[in-house]
Amino acid sequence: MVANSRDLVIAGLLRRLARMQQLLIVARILNETLDLETLLRYIVETAADLTQTEAGSVLLLDSKGEHLRFAAATNIKPSALRELTVPMENSVAGWVLTTGKAMTIPDIHRADFFYEGVDEVLGFHTRSIMAVPLEIHERRIGVLEVVNKIGDRPFTDDDMESLMILGSLAAVSIENARLFQQSDLISDVVHELRTPLTSIIGYSKMLLMMDNVPAAMQKQFLETIHREASRLGDMVNTYLDLARLESGRAQLHREDVDLNEVAREAAELMHPQAAERDIELTLELSAPACTAHVDKARLHQVLVNLLSNAIKYNRPGGKVHLAVTPIGGQARIRVQDTGEGIPPDILPYIFDKFFRGEEKEGQAKGTGLGLSIAKQIVEMHGGSIEVQSVPGEGSTFTVILPLETS
Ligand code: ADP
Repeated sequence: MVANSRDLVIAGLLRRLARMQQLLIVARILNETLDLETLLRYIVETAADLTQTEAGSVLLLDSKGEHLRFAAATNIKPSALRELTVPMENSVAGWVLTTGKAMTIPDIHRADFFYEGVDEVLGFHTRSIMAVPLEIHERRIGVLEVVNKIGDRPFTDDDMESLMILGSLAAVSIENARLFQQSDLISDVVHELRTPLTSIIGYSKMLLMMDNVPAAMQKQFLETIHREASRLGDMVNTYLDLARLESGRAQLHREDVDLNEVAREAAELMHPQAAERDIELTLELSAPACTAHVDKARLHQVLVNLLSNAIKYNRPGGKVHLAVTPIGGQARIRVQDTGEGIPPDILPYIFDKFFRGEEKEGQAKGTGLGLSIAKQIVEMHGGSIEVQSVPGEGSTFTVILPLETS
């Protein structure tokens, strides 16, 4: 009898030792993985594996600290992840994030709260759940969850211990990978600036070295130098603008603005560019004027950017339509084009920094920053921006702004 209980204790200790050994290996891999996506995938798979559950997921707080978004999950396709947010109220992840406490729900039907939205979208059936906060120096960055213990067995203390340890290791690794991404961003910027610079240096060197350059050739070289130098200037300004917006240093200068007027001015500015590409640019204004408390110059910047894309990624003879419509307490501004459309596989990424679709022959090179700047600006106004697109038919960008005046 005594020997029996001693054996049980020893067996338990051995199991724990094996688990700790496994976690040491996990810690080493987490430490070595700097690519955020690979890291997140490893974390969710390990979470499910350690706790013997059907699925694992990581939810991260967005940069404003307002929404919890799925960053990775073993049972969700990466392309579907970004769309999935979980509310802070009445959700397990929201509770864990707000209180900083771990939580186990053995039976979802008996839970006080549970957000069913994700199951509905995924066609998944959550029966039980365990969740721990992801925390660094008391700053909570997200939540690690596992769902449905395999064979519907109950969660154990061992599961909780493993998930807590994994959670604390994972939080540090996620933060490191994010910092690494930031430095990646800087090298991206430098890389992008190098291309026009190389061409400026190359052409000016040729002009300096060659004697008796024919006038026509001289002009062509100078034109290239001028074009590339202007592009370089544009890129530097765009990068700086985005950096200012993202750091929160950019202030909005809000005033009561007639949205029809902003739309009209943006369309007027873009007319020559549209005409040059034989694109018909039409404008549909709101019948009663739509007045909103916005930064006029910034909103102008958003519309010019959307119109410029709608023209750039269009076809000769195509159409671009800009419409301002009040709906309830909001204004809807739409930019519709009959261009080439956006392939579904890149659609979730077009608002990302530096993201650029494939470049086509004869298409002006962009910075890949226009849409991320537009999104920042719209969100700073408390609005939203989204896109719908049918490849081969065209795209529609919709901006929604709250319609309040001072
Ligand atoms: P840029 O235009 O400088 O490349 P943006 O951030 O403005 O950068 O846009 C990102 C990407 O989204 C573009 O490279 C392009 O592939 C795609 N895109 C944006 N607007 C449109 C549009 N109206 N039609 C088709 N593709 C678009």
